[in-house]
Amino acid sequence: MTTVKIVRSVLEANDAVAAVNRKLLDEHHTLGVNLMSAPGSGKTTLLQETIPRLGHPCAVMVGDLQTTRDADRLRVDSVETVQINTGRGCHLSSTQVADGLAAIDLAGIDFLFIENVGNMVCPASHDLGEHFRCVILSVPEGDDKVAKYPTIFQAADIILVNKIDLAGILDFSMQRVLDDLAQLNTAAPVLTLSARTGQGLDEWVQWLRQKRSKRAAAAL
Ligand code: MG
Ligand code: ZN
Repeated sequence: MTTVKIVRSVLEANDAVAAVNRKLLDEHHTLGVNLMSAPGSGKTTLLQETIPRLGHPCAVMVGDLQTTRDADRLRVDSVETVQINTGRGCHLSSTQVADGLAAIDLAGIDFLFIENVGNMVCPASHDLGEHFRCVILSVPEGDDKVAKYPTIFQAADIILVNKIDLAGILDFSMQRVLDDLAQLNTAAPVLTLSARTGQGLDEWVQWLRQKRSKRAAAAL
């Protein structure tokens, strides 16, 4: 077997488990959202600010190489949280998500957020069984990242530009980001927000609610 064939069969096996995960979420009318970004873009803070605003029962699965720090930040009364330590793994796999799902009672859970390992490369090629892929780019990372990591932005269903409150302090051209995105992905909405100040969060929360109601209506 050539290396290319092995890589392909690993990805096919990943996709098969992902399809099972998605079916399980569908059966429970749970919307699965996979959050992907570089480390430090604000995924955990965004979830801390999103979940109370959503006003729906949520569960969170957090992928990290080490530590339970992010899961600890999210472990509040109303949110079911599962930590997946990937060790050396630089992305979540559908099998890890399947194991995580086994630990969650999905009955009555409207949203499952999967916080992927902070990495702009391989999470893009691993279907986890989510319904939507959300890619977060934060202002301090720089306005050149869309062109540098095209695959993850191509795979996105929605793109959030976080820490927008810093755009005036740092040299960050939103126009450059939009121009680069126009070359790669014209379907995904682009929202600018700040999880810290709350700016733009309403639009994001509205997008989530709409996506869930649409799926729920289609399932009836
Ligand atoms: Mg985090
Ligand atoms: Zn990886």
